[in-house]
Amino acid sequence: MTAVLAATDLRKSFGALKATDGVSLTLREGEIHAIIGPNGAGKSTLIAQLCGSLAPDAGTVSFLGCNVTAQPVAARARMGLARTFQTSALAMEDTVLQNALLGALGASGKPWHFFAPVARDRGLKGRAEAALDAVGLADLRDVRTADLSHGQRRQLEVAVALTLEPKAFVMDEPMAGLGQEGSAQLTSFLADLKRTAPILLVEHDMDAVFALADRISVLVYGRIIATGTVDEIRRDAAVREAYLGD
Ligand code: ADP
Ligand code: MG
Repeated sequence: MTAVLAATDLRKSFGALKATDGVSLTLREGEIHAIIGPNGAGKSTLIAQLCGSLAPDAGTVSFLGCNVTAQPVAARARMGLARTFQTSALAMEDTVLQNALLGALGASGKPWHFFAPVARDRGLKGRAEAALDAVGLADLRDVRTADLSHGQRRQLEVAVALTLEPKAFVMDEPMAGLGQEGSAQLTSFLADLKRTAPILLVEHDMDAVFALADRISVLVYGRIIATGTVDEIRRDAAVREAYLGD
């Protein structure tokens, strides 16, 4: 099976601390691959290396068959690598539609000072509206983003990502801060979303991980100690000891 996104032997140290200590993994077409592990395991560091916001000390990242290790975040995003659920990603005072339009503008590669004409550009507006429709936020297009619930903001972040026509999603703890109901809603949303593009999902919420993941990798002290299906990971003695806590 071909990998859409692949990390090979990624390493990153902060002083003496090896935050990622030789991480290799793949994200395949059609799957949700969950990354779990204790706090400080290196999950966010790994994501930053995959997306290009942090240069690895060694190792490679390939996306859609291209070696993108030296490519910056924006270049990877334009290729269709969508990173979502960064808290700063939305303009909170702008409306839902304006945020989707900003995404569509970014995806178009036009410079930011084209925003006013872009807001009237039918093609981009259509793309933004289609993305809102896809995540179920079409009716809220004129609502101020700050007035959305946490869960709706996560859906809006996905809508912004959808304007890029993503080939892969990378998500860092999307369930964080959501209540039980919000997590359940986002879980069913992500189960559908993986048909659009595969999802690399870093998540602490084990209910969500066990419900969603096709494969799980367990990261501990910068190393992947196991990769397998939900059943395999639940049965793995080393994983239970290191992480699942029983
Ligand atoms: P996780 O997301 O799994 O909780 P992180 O990737 O955020 O883990 O962090 C892994 C380790 O690297 C932690 O010990 C953290 O303190 C350290 N770390 C992360 N980023 C930096 C940084 N910019 N400078 C120094 N240490 C860092
Ligand atoms: Mg983290």
